[in-house]
Amino acid sequence: MKIDDIKKSALLIDGEIFFNQSIKNLNWFNIGGKTKIFFKPNSLKGLIDYLKIYESRGKIFILGNGSNVLFNDETFEGTVIKLGKNFKNITLLNKEAIVAGAAVSQKNVSTFAKNNNISGLEFMSCIPGTVGGGIRMNSGCFEKEFKDVLISLQLVDFNGIVRSIPAEKIKFNYRSTELPKDHIFLSATLKGKEKNSVEIKKIINDLILRKELAQPTKIKTCGSTFKNPIKQTDKKVWELIKACVPDQISFGDASISDKHANFFVNKKNAKSADMKSLINFVTKQVKDKTGVKLELEIVLVE
Ligand SMILES: Cc1cc2nc3c(=O)[nH]c(=O)nc-3n(C[C@H](O)[C@H](O)[C@H](O)COP(=O)(O)OP(=O)(O)OC[C@H]3O[C@@H](n4cnc5c(N)ncnc54)[C@H](O)[C@@H]3O)c2cc1C
Repeated sequence: MKIDDIKKSALLIDGEIFFNQSIKNLNWFNIGGKTKIFFKPNSLKGLIDYLKIYESRGKIFILGNGSNVLFNDETFEGTVIKLGKNFKNITLLNKEAIVAGAAVSQKNVSTFAKNNNISGLEFMSCIPGTVGGGIRMNSGCFEKEFKDVLISLQLVDFNGIVRSIPAEKIKFNYRSTELPKDHIFLSATLKGKEKNSVEIKKIINDLILRKELAQPTKIKTCGSTFKNPIKQTDKKVWELIKACVPDQISFGDASISDKHANFFVNKKNAKSADMKSLINFVTKQVKDKTGVKLELEIVLVE
């Protein structure tokens, strides 16, 4: 890939561009090599200008908080884009709706909604990702997910065309969205219902407590590794893993959390290859012993 044009244009673009940037500290696994280009647009104009210069010169990967991604050990031969400060705005649209930039953390959405007496977005206080990542993954917990609260979505495609899509036009699945991979989400309009903020706070505290009791915290993980195989069995994926895989299994520093068998952990310096060996091992054991074919929830960045 030629990057000379990008180097020449870098000063004109509203954003920060880094070359051969390490990706390790930009994801929750703390895993990965470098990316050829790392671009942090400050504004929509900066993002569109970059897309026009970059055109089809290579791959693009949009990174949110990196709480659901596994990068390779090798250099990513393209651009990783992480939306910067102008994508972190959050505003009240009316008494039951807010508009949040794609780079706003879901936790901040939940807090903002609470402070404005809007209920329905409490589940986001339990998810460590951004609004952009939440839409792409149709993230959710405790029986609520993004599809239940999204009114509309604003996005730009890799050609720099900006569009707004109403939620009814979007096909959501369990932990995925059928929107093309060349769509970069910019912001989302989210709905709730009026409720007293004190009651909302109670709901949030209760959800956080339930989550902390069930799942590990303060470890290098990207949360659930596999989706629950809802079409194949009533069993949760952690139950299948627990029944089929020895607890102490590890490949290098990649291992399984003792609190939640579907949370894979980088104990110290795991490589991407170690984590993939663990993923492949677990997939095979579960398939051989139960016939269930597991599907990844975490996104492999190729
Ligand atoms: C401790 C822990 C607990 C978790 N608990 C839950 C849970 O309860 N429920 C749940 O659903 N998930 C959970 N997760 C997984 C993860 O937090 C969610 O999937 C989250 O929504 C991902 O958001 P992110 O910003 O980190 O996205 P990333 O991990 O950075 O990216 C995930 C995907 O979203 C895409 N993406 C990100 N931003 C954009 C954008 N602006 N435009 C287009 N595409 C974009 C990426 O390209 C990638 O495909 C957990 C993870 C951890 C580490």
